[in-house]
Amino acid sequence: MLSPLSVAQLVEITGGKATGKGYPALIAQISIDSRQIIHPEQTLFVALRGAKADGADFIPALIQEGIRFFLVHETWEIPSGLLERASFIAVKNTRDALQAIAAFQRKQFGKPVVGITGSNGKTIVKEWLGQVLSQSYTVAKSPKSYNSQVGVPLSIFGIQPYHQVALLEAGVSRSGEMAPLSWMIQPELGIFTNIGSAHEEGFEGLESKIREKLQLFSECKLLIYCKDQALVSREIEERFDPSRLISWSANPGSDFTVSVKKKEGQTKIILMKLDLSTMTFQVPFTDSASIENITHVIIAALTLGQDIPAIQEGLNHLKSVDMRLTLKPGVNDSLLIDDTYNNDLAGLKVALEFLSQQRPKRSKILILSDLLQQGIPEKIYSEVAELIQSYSLDRIIGVGKEVARLKDFFPDRFENYPSTEDLLLHLDPEKFQNELILITGARPFEFERVVNRLQQRIHGTTLEINLNALTHNFNFFKRQVKPETKMMVMVKAFAYGGGAAEIANHLQTMGADYLAVAFSDEGVSLRKQGIRLPIMVLNPVEESFDLLREYDLEPVVFSPDFFRKLGKYVQNHQIQLSIHLDMDTGMHRLGFEKHHLPELKDLIRSFPELKIASLYTHLVGADEAEHEEFSLSQLRQFMEMKAEVETVLDYKPLIHALNSAGIIRYPEFQMDMVRLGIGLYGVEVTGKHDAALKPVSTLKTTISQVKTLPPGATVGYSRKGKLPNGGKIATLAIGYADGYDRRFSQGKGYVLIQSKKAPIIGNVCMDMVMVDVSEIDAKAGDEAIIYGEQISLKELADRIGTIPYELLTNISTRVKRVYYLD
Ligand SMILES: *Cc1c(COP(=O)(O)O)cnc(C)c1O
Repeated sequence: MLSPLSVAQLVEITGGKATGKGYPALIAQISIDSRQIIHPEQTLFVALRGAKADGADFIPALIQEGIRFFLVHETWEIPSGLLERASFIAVKNTRDALQAIAAFQRKQFGKPVVGITGSNGKTIVKEWLGQVLSQSYTVAKSPKSYNSQVGVPLSIFGIQPYHQVALLEAGVSRSGEMAPLSWMIQPELGIFTNIGSAHEEGFEGLESKIREKLQLFSECKLLIYCKDQALVSREIEERFDPSRLISWSANPGSDFTVSVKKKEGQTKIILMKLDLSTMTFQVPFTDSASIENITHVIIAALTLGQDIPAIQEGLNHLKSVDMRLTLKPGVNDSLLIDDTYNNDLAGLKVALEFLSQQRPKRSKILILSDLLQQGIPEKIYSEVAELIQSYSLDRIIGVGKEVARLKDFFPDRFENYPSTEDLLLHLDPEKFQNELILITGARPFEFERVVNRLQQRIHGTTLEINLNALTHNFNFFKRQVKPETKMMVMVKAFAYGGGAAEIANHLQTMGADYLAVAFSDEGVSLRKQGIRLPIMVLNPVEESFDLLREYDLEPVVFSPDFFRKLGKYVQNHQIQLSIHLDMDTGMHRLGFEKHHLPELKDLIRSFPELKIASLYTHLVGADEAEHEEFSLSQLRQFMEMKAEVETVLDYKPLIHALNSAGIIRYPEFQMDMVRLGIGLYGVEVTGKHDAALKPVSTLKTTISQVKTLPPGATVGYSRKGKLPNGGKIATLAIGYADGYDRRFSQGKGYVLIQSKKAPIIGNVCMDMVMVDVSEIDAKAGDEAIIYGEQISLKELADRIGTIPYELLTNISTRVKRVYYLD
């Protein structure tokens, strides 16, 4: 942080009121996450309220850990006893106060701040500009895509006095969000990357989306934009004085006229200024999106005064690497966190935080390279050491000369290798067993080679799960219900195919209240992998009673007979067990019917050891409007049944009825809890809020071979694929054994290769499928998308007459799941 603050200053900045005990120390760190605190005595903890639990809940524990300063909501009643032990600043809204502190800190930074927004490319432009500028300057930048209402303040707190330029990214998803971001960032130079065409729920239309984003630049001295985006440039030119604008275009008349020449995997970008002087840059990309992003980068670097040779040197090192933080299966049950594209402290902090949120493993290992161009090494590595210290790692492997300084801080846990080559010589994958390994390094160290050595080798099909999208969808549903309504999340069937342990773990950190699985075994597996949330088991069997007890699982009880058996079991063992009662109001699958109620009440009285944790019913047609009348009659019947059951209870069980579709259609029946399923995974089955959810999973595979076939050739079993005029086909490494449905055969399905449609030709085989690529310049090794952002699950399901649920849950466990934060 740039400027340490006293409590008096904070009161002034936030307009809050200080109470509690006074401490003379200055605040040099700000944290919103109770697990992320390094110097407790100089940290201000900001208790945010969100979809997640109220941050204030952690305050008593944090005081134990030595934190003395808290920013809290004025409505939060400070528990007695705490006032003597800490300082509290009470404000109307802690998020606004956090932003006010950020705006204040930003003002302390006298060097240039670049603000970047747009629909696509903003993170990559920020990262690449950071790389290019770091040839000449020390650069602060938002970690990953920390561009939100809370991400931006955290990015600003990461700016240090020694930084010479700061790059801050701003992202908005609805009207009204940019004003606070703009107020905090106060950019001098702006970059508007572009505007996507996708409809977004939070905006009325494309123009209103552009206008919202442009607010970031309202006080900017200079704004860089591409004139060839007609709508964007019209909106910009209407609002900004020409003297503040730097335009570029493929056509003459802009500040920079840009022409490109592509040759053998390289592109020459030639910029001509209005005075007809030209300069030429060479870049290792040919795709148009990368060229557009790089043009923004070059013009921004020139505007900031960087010289041309330094810019070219920076461009030479750009690689289209995956910037995402990914979690993937490693050798011998290890888990790898792949962060092979990180080069600063802010990024390291994000990665360590992600590490600390993973399920417990035998030990935690960090593989880390030198941090390049990050200012004074003496200082940087002591900061790195402090950061690492707070995450209690078991082993630290440093690669490079500078990082060797960590030896002084961790003499017993630190190993050093001069180069990646040298590390690889000594790295034996068999020495790793059930470990959690974070691999993070600067680009030139090529740590992808280390990841390659340590990751589990599986064939070319992967299911990628976007954890940010999962969070987004969870929060969307959380916003549809009252803050006090609990969220149970269905992670049955391997979390709808997404991978139960990782998704349950992520839900745990997001603040879900309950999980539900179909069978006891699924619950046992979650417990064994360190999941602590309460778990409801939908379909327990008598044989699993011991497991329920041993692993603290809560069975659904659905018949008098089952109730009696379980009751006798707990009486014999002299234990108590929490159970859930399923009321059948029309599903006619499992559950108590109306005529069972007298018997049920007797049973409840006879077996008080069985504690009724909840009472629920399940709607049969919540997704479809045509069943509305039936759904409402189910809900009414449920209310009657629950009232009757409650007459024999002297405590209140949780009452719940709504699945994903129900949450959208009948929010007035949310009661104490809702049960979120398919919606979390990005499918909005009612069709009312299609644009509000983000697709969570992308199924990808690779091309194994490309063949050119003569006229009349047939493809695959039974000669079902016909090429009367000949053509070109590609064989993909996915088949029905991976869960690629055989009903997609013979043109019913298609995949995307280079964003172009390649129809299935012939029948889907067990492990392979052939697609027609006659019109696509495809080669072996290229990626093929089965579904994801550009092919919706709903569309695919429609094509073969099924539902998205089936497609999701059919993906075989042999397909590698990879999780990422973008
Ligand atoms: C699977 C399931 C849900 C979740 O349904 P979605 O349609 O996926 O939201 C809710 N309740 C019960 C009892 C379920 O079995």
